[in-house]
Amino acid sequence: MTSDTRSARLASLRDALARADIDGLLVSSLSNVRYLTGFSGSNALVLVTSRECLLLTDFRYATQVEEEVGDAATVRIEPTSLWLGLWNALQHMTGVDRIGFETGHLLHRDFARLLEQGSRWQWRPQEDLVETLRERKDAGEVAAIEEAVAMAEQALDRTLGKLRAGLTETAVAGILERHLREAGSEAYPFASIVASGPRSALPHARAGDRVLGPGDFVLLDFGAVARGYCSDITRTVVLGRASAEQREVYEIVREANGRASGAVRPGMTGMAADAVAREYIDARGFGEAFGHSLGHGIGLDVHEAPRLARTVEAPLAAGMVVTIEPGIYRPGWGGVRIEDDVLITESGGRVLTSFPRALHEIV
Ligand code: ZN
Ligand code: ZN
Repeated sequence: MTSDTRSARLASLRDALARADIDGLLVSSLSNVRYLTGFSGSNALVLVTSRECLLLTDFRYATQVEEEVGDAATVRIEPTSLWLGLWNALQHMTGVDRIGFETGHLLHRDFARLLEQGSRWQWRPQEDLVETLRERKDAGEVAAIEEAVAMAEQALDRTLGKLRAGLTETAVAGILERHLREAGSEAYPFASIVASGPRSALPHARAGDRVLGPGDFVLLDFGAVARGYCSDITRTVVLGRASAEQREVYEIVREANGRASGAVRPGMTGMAADAVAREYIDARGFGEAFGHSLGHGIGLDVHEAPRLARTVEAPLAAGMVVTIEPGIYRPGWGGVRIEDDVLITESGGRVLTSFPRALHEIV
């Protein structure tokens, strides 16, 4: 992250603090810490005020924090507790009385600390101040997501070459995750989903000990991580030749996916985007079988704002990167999901995933 990027993000957050009528924000979400400062360690608190950006972490990260953050924040390495460090620092700040905290991320146990040890300050609950800034990606973030997409697609290509009857879902997940690592993925955004046969009807199945057999749908939903940024892709393939029924359901999902990817654009609400896919699936008689929402933002977290769902009135904006992932799930029979990652641009959606969507039969 360049220092210009960091300054721009802090400036945007400070505007948000002013609008929220608070003097500072205590950031306890590690993804938000990383977004604001570049620090990727697992233990940190950040306090942003109109003048300061203070980062507290511990001894394990002394070298890393210097490399990642430099002088972009005032760094304190706390020998005992980050909270003690916070109280000490706050005592020396003037004009910082009303401080926001992140309702979605602060543990209740830590909230109790604010009320007890931090009782001389006024703590104001805040929702999604940093998450809202994270919705629209800059060029560097888009480039990182594109890298993560390329890693995932390379891993999928290699995995499909090894898919055969007799392997368990867990074994397939292992092959996939090894190829993700070989492609350069820093981590797995979530435990890769490999769901076969009737289990493909479970939208969030974990890979299990079911053995793949001829004629199975095999649904693979997984992602890679590049420079902290996630991709999230689903492809559903058939082991052997697809039946007419499998092909029919598959083609409906593929058409719904293509229609939604082609329709998304700035100004369109999350609910309108969702409706493009849902109305098509509904018209083809499978409305009941598409029970989840169309998609979600991806970035430092694999699920982040915005959401593309039936209840979301917020409009999409250029720079957002979202998934488009319609599915049809028929309990006892199987399911199909096709998930792509799409950048919203001024002129519409640009699909970042290029892995073929035509039905892949493994013969
Ligand atoms: Zn996914
Ligand atoms: Zn997803």
